[in-house]
Amino acid sequence: MKDIYNRYSEYLKEHYGCRVYKLPVNIPVSCPNRTGGLSGCTYCDEKGAGFDSLSGIFSVAEQLSKNIDYIGKKYKAEKFTAYFQNFTNTFLPVDEFKKYIEEACINGIVEIDISTRPDCIRSEYLNAMKDISDKYNVEITVELGLQSINPHTLKKINRGHTLAEFIDAALEIKKYGFKVCTHLILNLPWDDIDDCIEAAKIISVIGVDFAKLHSLYIAENTVMAREYSSGAFEICSLDEYADRVIEFLRYLSPDICIERIVSRAPKENTLFANWSRSTWFVRDYIENKMRMNGFFQGELFNYAGGSAVRRFFKN
Ligand code: SF4
Repeated sequence: MKDIYNRYSEYLKEHYGCRVYKLPVNIPVSCPNRTGGLSGCTYCDEKGAGFDSLSGIFSVAEQLSKNIDYIGKKYKAEKFTAYFQNFTNTFLPVDEFKKYIEEACINGIVEIDISTRPDCIRSEYLNAMKDISDKYNVEITVELGLQSINPHTLKKINRGHTLAEFIDAALEIKKYGFKVCTHLILNLPWDDIDDCIEAAKIISVIGVDFAKLHSLYIAENTVMAREYSSGAFEICSLDEYADRVIEFLRYLSPDICIERIVSRAPKENTLFANWSRSTWFVRDYIENKMRMNGFFQGELFNYAGGSAVRRFFKN
């Protein structure tokens, strides 16, 4: 690794031999944490996780074709990932799920990324993905929201699952040869830097492939917005966020590729987003701090494989 961290964009170029563009896809799906009287994660707004994808009124193939046409012409792109981004994409009867995923296997799509929750992984869905992957020669990545490894924080933000479900799901997905991407929010007010370091260690030892780091933003009309407005918590400074990201990366396995280190937060309808700075400002702030201190991903990845007894084995 020549860079300060292992960038996902570089991985894609090396793996597919060219730049691969990720195209968001919406399907009519909900989330188990927002149904049956459950109120969802406290930071979740009405639109789910994605705010910039084409509306769900177009079919999967139409959404992708429109985007492929536009991006293909604009950037002379040839290879694309279909990214099922919003809500919990495996919270559907398995036949419906399979139909939507299969619809995405059009010319130019080399990979399918499926965003879901750790408590929505079952062998029926993984088998369906395997069938499609084999039939159409597409790779599969499953994106799992974990957000925090701290059980108290997970309760506080009403995630509705614990770390155990995440580990179970990630190990199950890996058995099928699919890639796993983990989403974490590193500035949750109830976490501290030790939680971030432990998160890096856990996803490293279970063999996660990619990580997406988010900076918490507070959307209007959410439970968290009400808590924030009432002064129930404060969000750490940008400098503290940078330190959390940097320590996370120093402890992370050098093999894990990083998709992002800060959220692309919407500007409108938020009470707090990226310390009122642009995504690029926050990213550069963190990267410059790493460079200035000579820090890099994986420099403290020394805890796996029996670290205490390693001293007895010279070779
Ligand atoms: S898992 Fe995602 S979609 Fe479901 S409530 Fe939480 S943030 Fe919202």
